[in-house]
Amino acid sequence: SSSGGSARRAERVQVVVRCRPMLEKEITEGRSNCVVVDTAGSTIQVKNLKQPEQAPKLFTFDRTYDASSSQRQLYDDVAHPIVHSVMCGYNGTVLAYGQTASGKTFTMDGLDDPPELRGIIPQAFEDIFSHIQGSQSSDNFLVRASYLEIHNEEIRDLLAGPQPMTRLELKENVEGTVYVKNLTSITVQSVADISHLLTVGKKSRSVGATLMNQDSSRSHSIFTITVEASARSTSAGTDGSMHIRVGKLNLVDLAGSERLNKTGATGDRFRELTNINWSLSALGNVISALVDGKSSHVPYRDSKLTRLLQDSLGGNTRTVMIANIGPADYNYDESVSTLRYANRAK
Ligand code: ADP
Ligand code: MG
Repeated sequence: SSSGGSARRAERVQVVVRCRPMLEKEITEGRSNCVVVDTAGSTIQVKNLKQPEQAPKLFTFDRTYDASSSQRQLYDDVAHPIVHSVMCGYNGTVLAYGQTASGKTFTMDGLDDPPELRGIIPQAFEDIFSHIQGSQSSDNFLVRASYLEIHNEEIRDLLAGPQPMTRLELKENVEGTVYVKNLTSITVQSVADISHLLTVGKKSRSVGATLMNQDSSRSHSIFTITVEASARSTSAGTDGSMHIRVGKLNLVDLAGSERLNKTGATGDRFRELTNINWSLSALGNVISALVDGKSSHVPYRDSKLTRLLQDSLGGNTRTVMIANIGPADYNYDESVSTLRYANRAK
């Protein structure tokens, strides 16, 4: 981020934009491209093709990624530095924002096959365990994972096995740390172990969505990895005592940001939309307060999402928001709205 705040604070919250390729279906339908990505200049231009007399809208971010960007490149640029700091005992958060079908899940999960299409989450798994393998044998690591979703401001455990529909509560301990009461947390020893949890949790998410007649794009999902490292100090003059560092990584696939015509939405759908809009704007407010650096008040308490991420957004932590957009003209309004949101967070 370049706007506001000290340089030190600014570099701890990054906002990048990724524009996915045109989908097969969009090509068949003859959609036009209304987005120009300048990766060297870190800008994005969107043009309203229905109103050609209008000047294109230009936005600048920390980085921009076009349709040819690889999963590996995105990981190396934005996620690896955060994973590295988590291994050193800091908290970090990676968030994917955007309308439904803009590429959030592709960015976070990706595809299993071929391996080059794996997203940030599976690449983080590899990175964490290769770091552990490559570290000194005097270091001991304990890796734990949990996986939850937030739908209508209710928290659901995705690793709870046969009782996946139980609603969990947010609690605060005496130190003021917010945690989810009774959330399943599983110790993992390998990439295979943790990958299995992602698969199990995703299945539980889609089963739950079907049971509740709900679309999973209407909930936020958070995969959290906690890394505890203990090392005996060996340097001269130290007492050989144990040092424990704990870092936490939150990998967040946000609910679709589209603002459906609220007048057409009734009942459950209306409540869902109101909750999504509310929590996404609460998140935007928190991130812009952090980036600004001048606000004395960061409004974490306004939503479950921001309360839950409180100890991993701001302070001594690193955050990246990846805003995803599609290139096609029929997405113009939503793309502009995503870029405005991301720009404000920057
Ligand atoms: P979202 O999670 O935002 O709803 P998805 O990640 O499911 O969107 O993406 C919608 C479709 O676009 C999927 O078929 C996905 O594979 C494809 N897609 C998204 N981003 C890319 C990309 N960068 N490269 C290739 N295909 C992509
Ligand atoms: Mg998705």
